[in-house]
Amino acid sequence: MMISVLSSEDREEIFNTMTDFQIDVIMNHVMYRVKSELLTASFWKGIHWELLGVNYDRLYRKKLNQRKYRPSLYCECGRSLKYQYVVKSKETGEILELGKECFTQRTGIPERIAEEIYNSRNKINIFQDEILNAYKFRERFPIELYNEIHLNKVDDKWSPYYNRKILDFKKANLPLFHRDQDKLENDLIEYKVRKRQLKRLLGMNFKAEYTENYVYLIKYMENRILNDRKLNQGERKKLIQDLYKISKAVNESISTDFANLSIDRRKLITVEYIDPFNDKLKGFDLSYKEALSESRNIARRIMDYASGKKIEKNTKIKQVTNKQVNTNNTSNVKLDYGLNSIIKTTKKHPCGNDEWEIIRMGADIKIKCTKCNRIIMLSRRNFNKRLKQVVK
Ligand SMILES: [Zn+2]
Ligand SMILES: [Zn+2]
Repeated sequence: MMISVLSSEDREEIFNTMTDFQIDVIMNHVMYRVKSELLTASFWKGIHWELLGVNYDRLYRKKLNQRKYRPSLYCECGRSLKYQYVVKSKETGEILELGKECFTQRTGIPERIAEEIYNSRNKINIFQDEILNAYKFRERFPIELYNEIHLNKVDDKWSPYYNRKILDFKKANLPLFHRDQDKLENDLIEYKVRKRQLKRLLGMNFKAEYTENYVYLIKYMENRILNDRKLNQGERKKLIQDLYKISKAVNESISTDFANLSIDRRKLITVEYIDPFNDKLKGFDLSYKEALSESRNIARRIMDYASGKKIEKNTKIKQVTNKQVNTNNTSNVKLDYGLNSIIKTTKKHPCGNDEWEIIRMGADIKIKCTKCNRIIMLSRRNFNKRLKQVVK
């Protein structure tokens, strides 16, 4: 992929053909991308400041006689700025809005790291030029691709932020960043492959119905079942059929019951039962059988609740929730592990094994089951919660 960087005149010329809304969408998402790349950089470790934001005044001109607009960004020292860095002291909570010149002096952040932070300003142009170039060459929002995705509910799996972002671009009729365009295309291909797989497995009459508003059985279990080599074709078929049947029944049942409950009650049930259950599904913590039967339990309990019966204490689900709280409390125990360590988890993998090898360390940790070689990814927090013992 070639990135041609535009001159600031080219850039303004293209911006001039756009609506204010289009420009807002580009700037918001460009800055969001720049900020999130900066925030995940490794150099923040040990720094006593946190970055709250990077701001950019697109219309800023250094020379007074070229200024058409009043500057909008300033440094603590009074100087007007094109790029402004907002940082907050982790010790005192003090917030400073600074330009490059005062940055190191006021924060004590080493020059070398400050340099990396300033370099992010190059990304602003790279990211916005990606869109501007495409726009100049008459590319617009990929509406047909999006419609197919939306029609098949492939976007149900997107995060709320991602969904909002794509809808912003749609509303502004702007071409997407390359990587978003790629993601949309890949998501659709993946969906089609899955659908073909399901049709082959279940016969041509099968209609994949995906209405999981509460409990995400299909979302988290379907791929696991389809790719589980230990299942024979008959077992796989049976599981997928159960999965769709139970997902539909459970979600429809909860939906009906929720209609009779106040918003507060719904929230309570969601936080106490549904969210923890979905977390466990997502973390591959449950065997197929457990997942299906627990989801039915949840639906039944909600039904009892909605029809006026009290939820009994010490139910199976409740116990699981309590246990999670307990492991939370002990998660401060420090255990020495690193890349390629063999560790034991509190819960067994559905294959029956509880020993894993750490194959990636980072903000997320990847572990590989030493028996069946399945790889799962956990946030560090979840990993620590599940860690029972470091074997070697
Ligand atoms: Zn200054
Ligand atoms: Zn395994």
